[in-house]
This record gives sequence, structure tokens and C-alpha cells, in this order.
Amino acid sequence: MSVKFDELRRHLADIHNLDMAASLLDWDQQVNMPPGGSEARAAQQATLARLRHEMFTSDRTARLIEEAGRELDGAPFESDAASLVRVAARDLELANRLPAAFVSRLAEASSLAQPIWARARAANDFAAFRPTLERMVELKVEEAGLRGYSDHPYDAMLGQYEPGMTTADVDRIFEEHRPALVALIAAIGGKPEISEAPLTQGFDLERQRTFGIEMIRALGYDFERGRQDVSVHPFASHFSRNDVRITTRFEKEHLSPALFGMMHEAGHAMYEQGVGAGIAGTPLESGTSLGVHESQSRLWENIVGRSRGFWNWGYPRLVAAFPAQFAAIDPESFYRAINRVRPSYIRVEADEATYNLHIMVRFGIEKDLMTGALPVADLPKEWNGRFEALLGVRPPDDRHGCLQDVHWSAGYIGYFPAYALGNLLSAQYYAKALRDQPSIPDEIAAGRFSTLLSWLNTNIHQHGRKFTSAELTERVTGEPIQSRDYLAYLTTKFGEIYGL
Ligand code: ZN
Repeated sequence: MSVKFDELRRHLADIHNLDMAASLLDWDQQVNMPPGGSEARAAQQATLARLRHEMFTSDRTARLIEEAGRELDGAPFESDAASLVRVAARDLELANRLPAAFVSRLAEASSLAQPIWARARAANDFAAFRPTLERMVELKVEEAGLRGYSDHPYDAMLGQYEPGMTTADVDRIFEEHRPALVALIAAIGGKPEISEAPLTQGFDLERQRTFGIEMIRALGYDFERGRQDVSVHPFASHFSRNDVRITTRFEKEHLSPALFGMMHEAGHAMYEQGVGAGIAGTPLESGTSLGVHESQSRLWENIVGRSRGFWNWGYPRLVAAFPAQFAAIDPESFYRAINRVRPSYIRVEADEATYNLHIMVRFGIEKDLMTGALPVADLPKEWNGRFEALLGVRPPDDRHGCLQDVHWSAGYIGYFPAYALGNLLSAQYYAKALRDQPSIPDEIAAGRFSTLLSWLNTNIHQHGRKFTSAELTERVTGEPIQSRDYLAYLTTKFGEIYGL
């Protein structure tokens, strides 16, 4: 008998449904909503967040978790039931630290801030965003105090996205591979520059969309359980494992943002589509952490999508889609163009070698915003200085600098490190996939992706949130997160491309 567990599961399903409804409102806000809708939408989101928080932090949840835990005593750690109770208990412990009134204030502030950021970025006007960001940083400092931390207020931010990981851990992992990245980029800088011309010829938007969809359908993104739309900032969003959507930003002048952006978001979406049916409708029905999520998007976008093997299969299809642009260009020039390494300003367009340096700049700035060492007013100057120190180029304006990302307006401080950790994990997981299934590269070169996708489904996707990223990475690869595989991957790939 599992009466209490069943009751807990139904109760958590109601809360999960509120979460999914909030996600759908957010998807709609970013994809469809007219600008006039923002105030009412902020109020709607605040109500949902408050209801959700009240339901989840009620005495009933705590009682059911305890009773279900007793009922399941002895169930294996990795079972769906034991995992649901364990993860719900951890979520509750964290949620109890935030009062409902605070959660509602934060949700409303974030919903109001996003359109202000979007207008400020479009107008390249940091001053228009500054008071909003100051308010958001105040709220996040208040939140860190409420969540609690032992060493650094940033620990409280990081823990939401990578449970168990500390600021000191990230510092160590970043320091471990920063010098090697800087050296690699310097070595590449001494070589002749690769031309990006094949990618900037002007591409019909509808054809870009059709071709991108052909590519991600081949990778394994299931359109029966997904769809693709347009938004300013591309993202993937799920409302169940059977409704996982992606958005894309198209540029007429450049093929890469939409093409590789679609592969990236499809990587996120395939993770959500691969979550086990047994945990559908529960809080376990989602990727486990942002870092693991990003490992999936980066694996498909970069390790697969920017590989020579992939384009061995994909290039004739690209030529068929854009004959005027590519009929006279050899595949090798295209392969080199999509893998050009050059320090640039915009994170989402950064190449694989410089990407983690973009994150290291943000990580340092976020830490200092949280301690107050960096006042928001000084952000543009500090951003530009630190960016230049690490990447060797100075952003020409704030649109190409501190205004480029949506995250801070949405209240996502502590989120950025996940992108860099995701890069590391993408290589660490892929290296293990190749040890288990050595035929994967040959299959990719023939346009077959199912062995890789089913390896990811089995080892990573199906578990949803059952394991933390640290538990999952140990289970999958037998060791904690490390930068060795990522550095080896970059050194081999770019060593060959640049003749280092
Ligand atoms: Zn992503």
C-alpha cells in the first residue's frame, strides 16, 4: 500500500501544474504578447507564484513528505518514488527559506524588468535600465540573506541552479582551465584568420527556418511533441515531456544564429522530451540542473553540429537549400568558417574556445554585485575593462557589453556559470558515450544520430531531476565534473583546424 505516497504525488502534481502554467505564460510573454500586456501579465505571474509557494510550503506538503517517506522506507535510492520524496524534501527545505510575499515581489519585479531591459538594449541606453537592475540586485541580495550561505552570498544564488556547488568550486574549476584557454586563443591569434564569408552572404529567412527544422528533426527533436517559434532571446520551454518548445532568432545577414541556435535549443528540448514517462506530471519531470541542461544543448550544437562528420552528411543538404550561396564553396571552407575562433562581444555568438571566458567575466561581476563591491552604476565601465583584460577586445557600446543578456532583468543571478559548466560536461559525457559506443562518430558522418540520442536518453535524460548534477556525473562518467575532456576536445579540434 502506498496511500500517503499517492496523496503526495497528487498534491505535488497540482503544484507542478501551476509551475507549468507559469511557464506557458512566460513563453507567451516572450513569443506572442503585445507590449501592452506586460503589467497584467506581471500581476498574473505574481499570483501564480504566490499560490504555488503557499501550496508547496503548506503544512500538508511537509506532513505528506514525512508520511510518504516512512511508507517507502527501504525503497531503492534511484526508484521513482524514493527520488520524488527525496527531491521534494530538498525543494521544500529551500522554498521554506523564502516567504510568500518575497516570492511574489520577486516574480512581479522580474516580469516588469524584462521589457525595460529589452527597450534599453534596443536603444543602447544603460541609464534607462540602471534603476531596474539596482532594484533587482537589491532583491537578490535580500534573497541570498533569506536562503542563507556560509562563505559567500553568491553561494545562495548558485545553489538554485547547481545544487551543492559553491562559489569556491566554480572558482577552482574556472582557474583550472582559464590559463589553457587563454594560451589556446593566443596561439590561434598568431595564425592566419579564417574567413567567415560563407556564412554572411544573406539568407532568406523562411529557407533558414526550413533548413534548420530539417536538421533538428534529423537529430531527433520530435515535432509531434514540440514546435518552433521566433523570439528576441532564443530559449526552450517545456509544459510536459510531450510539449517541449523552442524559439529562434533569425538574422538575414548571418546563417549561424538561427542554424546553430536551433540545434542548441533542440538539444535542451530533446533532454526534456527524453524524461522518463514514469515521472511525468511530477516535479521530477525536468532536466536536473542548468549545467547538465547546457551540456545537452552544447553537445548537439557544437560537438555534433560543428563537427566535420556532421557536415559530411549535412553539406549536400545545405547546398540543396541554398544553391546560390554554397554551390561554389567547398565543404572545408564552410567547416572552417563555422569553427572560426575570434574574440567577439556577444556571448551567444561566441566560438567554443572563447565562450567560457565570456562566462568568467560575468561570474566575477555577479560575485561583486552581490557583495556590493561593484555598484550597478559602475557596471558598464567595469564590464568593458574586465572583458578587454580577458578577451583582448573592448565592447564598442553597452548593447555589445553589459546589456546583451536577458538574465539579470529576469532575476537570474548565479545562472551564467552553468553555461561554462555545461561546456565542460558536454565533452565529459560525450567522451564516455564514445567509450561505450565507438561507432557514434561514423554514424554521425552518415546522418544517423539515434545511437547517441538513445545513449543520452538512457544515461541522462530519463532520470529527469532524480539525481543532482554531481550524482548524475559520477554515475555516468565515474568522476566529478572536470575540464580535462573539454580542453582535450578543443586542443585536438582547433589544433587540426589552425595547424597548431
Ligand atoms: Zn542553452
